[in-house]
Amino acid sequence: MSAPAEPHGQLSDLIGDLSPHGVLITDRDLVVRGWNSWLARHTRQPAAMALGRPLFELFPDLAARQLDAVYRQALAGQTVVLSHRLHRYLLPMPAVDEYAGQFEQMQQSAQVAPFKQGDAIAGTITVVNDVTERVAREQELQLLLTQERRARAEAERAVDRVERLLQVTTALSIALTPVEIARVIVAQGGAALGAHAGVVAQLGADGDALEIVYAAGYPLETIGQWRRIPLEIPSPLARSMLSGEPVFVESRAQIAAQYPLLKAVVDDAGTHSLVALPLRVYEHTLGILGLSFPVEQQFGPEDRAFAGALAYQGAQALERARLFEAEHEARARAEAAVKARDQFLSIAAHEFRTPLTSLLGNAQLLQRRMQKEGSLTERHQRLLTVTIDQGMRLSRMVSMMLDVSRLETGRFALDRRPLDLDQLLRRVVEELEPTSSHHTIVYNNPDGPIVIDGDEMRLEQVFYNLLSNAIKYSPAGGQIHVDVARDDDAVILSVQDHGIGIPQEALPQLFQQFFRAPNVDEHKISGVGIGLYIVKEIVTRHGGEVSATSLNDAGSTFTVRLPLGKG
Ligand code: ADP
Repeated sequence: MSAPAEPHGQLSDLIGDLSPHGVLITDRDLVVRGWNSWLARHTRQPAAMALGRPLFELFPDLAARQLDAVYRQALAGQTVVLSHRLHRYLLPMPAVDEYAGQFEQMQQSAQVAPFKQGDAIAGTITVVNDVTERVAREQELQLLLTQERRARAEAERAVDRVERLLQVTTALSIALTPVEIARVIVAQGGAALGAHAGVVAQLGADGDALEIVYAAGYPLETIGQWRRIPLEIPSPLARSMLSGEPVFVESRAQIAAQYPLLKAVVDDAGTHSLVALPLRVYEHTLGILGLSFPVEQQFGPEDRAFAGALAYQGAQALERARLFEAEHEARARAEAAVKARDQFLSIAAHEFRTPLTSLLGNAQLLQRRMQKEGSLTERHQRLLTVTIDQGMRLSRMVSMMLDVSRLETGRFALDRRPLDLDQLLRRVVEELEPTSSHHTIVYNNPDGPIVIDGDEMRLEQVFYNLLSNAIKYSPAGGQIHVDVARDDDAVILSVQDHGIGIPQEALPQLFQQFFRAPNVDEHKISGVGIGLYIVKEIVTRHGGEVSATSLNDAGSTFTVRLPLGKG
């Protein structure tokens, strides 16, 4: 094997001590023949120690890292380029101080080429570049890039969670029952956190165990066994219920240590971590949301905040559902009570009517016969008249009760024909005038007839009610004014008394069924509170309006406005 002629002597000048690269020359036996000062400095081996030694003895790890092949290729005439990416370094040399902490070895790229003398290959020449600084910069850049990617992923996850929370809110807004609500928070909320199973439990009636309202993702037997979760048995759900605080269990080891009884459950469900979140409103825990995860989790601040928001939304929805149900029940009870009352009224009125009609008919017959025969004393006559008057009053009340029942059941029909309101009013005034000796009814009648299209019997009932109320609610007596006026297309009729008046706060409810103003009691005036309700129904069904005004203690005025007839 021929060595390069005088390589060392010739080449040390050639290589130059100022070269910024490492330059290594071997002969064909791979014995070091050239070693520049860059190499001496970085390998900490002076030329005197390196020259003349076999390369693989000097760097045994070249063979260990299978880089000896490169030299054989060079001897075979090939130039091999070694990138730091693949091998990180060719010759083991420590990185310069600045990068010593970061890299164990100086990062290198290198070129191993045949060393030619004429056409013959006399050995190899290796040029080594220190690329540590570049690699460090690249790594730094890589790190920044990774950090940026992670930050972006986190931001995207945050946006995703906000969106999911919004979806949960939307879904909750239409969920009405506890089961529907539980399904939304387990399915949608759980999915957002990465849970694979979930449960919502509420405290049972006896207060010593949680009862499952809804569960998903667990094997059926597990749900069957844990339908009731006693608070005294340690479980995350019970702990959260008792403390009102969330419970996070991040690993199987933690589950086994803290909740040994759950071993079978977590094994069966393939659970590796758990959370239990109290569903709280106004310091009151309405239930617990439990979520199970298929992998161990480290619940960071974001996860915990999201879980908290989810539990809050769920609790609000549960509270809404509870109120909704309570209101629903109360309304149903109230409706049932009203129905029962109406039914009773209707039955009672029907039952009263027949005996009352016969009683009244017989009393009137008796009165007529006795009058004809002149066989009654004045006192007996009076007694009979009072009997008949009271019977008529009772009969009117029974009719009103029947009217209420008809109005309620939609069986209240009007029979409308053209009629003269003036005539009708006269009749009512004449009928009522004599019933009270200390009231005077002043009827300010219009000139000429006032024709409207109305149900005579029903309108008579309206004016009878208003006028008899005016008499009844002015116990001290006095004048009652009935006025009729006309405008373009309506007739306006008012009944004014100087009685007890109506408190302002009672006016808005005056025309409601069974409403009586609070001042009637102090004056001990009896009544039922349905007359005005019927008045209003009759007037509005005629296309008109009725209203009341009152000045405290200075009487009341009721005004009825009815559309004029066409003809
Ligand atoms: P009732 O007279 O049987 O109580 P109404 O339906 O006729 O029933 O009247 C309802 C309530 O309106 C009365 O209880 C009373 O409080 C009030 N009211 C009606 N008319 C008058 C009036 N002219 N003056 C004072 N209060 C009246």
